Amino acid sequence: MIAPGEHIDYQQLAQQIKGWARELGFQQSGISDINLAAAGQHLNNWLNKKFHGSMAYMAKHGSARYHPEQLVPGTIRVISVRLDYMKTDLKPYEQLLENPQKAAISRYALGRDYHKVLRQKLKKLCTIIDQHAGEFGHRVFTDSAPVMEKALAEKAGLGWIGKHSNLINHQAGSYFFLGEIYTDLPLPVDQTASFHCGSCTQCIQDCPTQAIVAPFQVDARRCISYLTIENKGPIPLQFRQAMGNRIYGCDDCQVVCPWNKFTQHSAEPDFSPRHALDDTTLLELFNWDEATFLKRTEGSPIRRIGYQSWQRNLAVGLGNAHPTKEIIQSLKNRHSGASELVQEHINWALQQLTEVN
Ligand code: SF4
Repeated sequence: MIAPGEHIDYQQLAQQIKGWARELGFQQSGISDINLAAAGQHLNNWLNKKFHGSMAYMAKHGSARYHPEQLVPGTIRVISVRLDYMKTDLKPYEQLLENPQKAAISRYALGRDYHKVLRQKLKKLCTIIDQHAGEFGHRVFTDSAPVMEKALAEKAGLGWIGKHSNLINHQAGSYFFLGEIYTDLPLPVDQTASFHCGSCTQCIQDCPTQAIVAPFQVDARRCISYLTIENKGPIPLQFRQAMGNRIYGCDDCQVVCPWNKFTQHSAEPDFSPRHALDDTTLLELFNWDEATFLKRTEGSPIRRIGYQSWQRNLAVGLGNAHPTKEIIQSLKNRHSGASELVQEHINWALQQLTEVN
């Protein structure tokens, strides 16, 4: 604890913060300044091309997104943290994709909502800093506000932004969450991470909907993550077959990335799959009524999309499955009680299944 008037050794404090972050379970942390001019330019180009689709919030906060001091006055540094989420003994994603009756759910979403897990840890970290360095200006973020978390993490040395636009760490791959503390502490900054994609273009080639239209340029309107999570309207017909059985997010660009051979597995119990979501069938999930959906997705990020989007996505998945009597019957049974949006996707699925027959 620093006594009033006592000089703070910020170099030492930065090292202590990194040690406390590790004790709290973060795999890594780093510190950056708040100059996000290049990232801001990249964002504005992306917005001008309308690649954000219906995510109006991406444009809503104007320059505050790339000016942390506008979002939280007094901010001069950002502490970024990394928390791995990949669990061992999950059903391999590639095997799920090979079996069209199974549901492929992005692996970050199998367990407890990461926002809550990260926020609690970040708040604890702030309390410890406060106890040692005295009261300081800060605010924590976990993918919850207009924060350019990948650009900040890259500046803080946690990894580089790959051509698929996710952050990659050369010792841990890309399956991790990021969190930030905006602060007024004049901490020494870390070195920006260097770029190691080289000439590789695997993620661009293997994206099922060709959503990575150029290196670092993801057209969200084509991206299965956007289409199944952010998008509240119909899934455009042109992408339905390509969606396959991906019913919540998509991990393909990360699965093919060679850097993920360095994936580190998480010991965090909160990230263990709930309700065997890593190895379940589309039909089983489609048969959940709304009450079951709400109960089983309590505390899960999946709940945020709501039951309608859940059914919509599953109807598309079932339309791409091998036709069985049970699937066709279940789609028909759900039709009358479903919303107009879901009915249209059920009709599409039934058409797909009967055409195959
Ligand atoms: S697949 Fe290749 S190009 Fe894409 S992010 Fe990984 S290393 Fe970079």
